[in-house]
Amino acid sequence: MARKHLKVVRLLEPELCMECRFSQTANVELADGTFQRMIHCRRKDCDNWDYQSAENAKSLQSEDQSLDDAA
Ligand SMILES: [Zn+2]
Repeated sequence: MARKHLKVVRLLEPELCMECRFSQTANVELADGTFQRMIHCRRKDCDNWDYQSAENAKSLQSEDQSLDDAA
């Protein structure tokens, strides 16, 4: 699975995205090749992202495969 605009951003209020129905936990491969477990917010109009901190991510492995296949 490849996403063209995969970004890692800092969440202003992590709790908000954790409770959001568009979120899921995922393992993200960062630009340096390390993996980090984080919240994957898929809400396109989410205003909880700190875009100033945006970094590129290489890939994303969802921990919920069924949700991932539907995306
Ligand atoms: Zn969100």
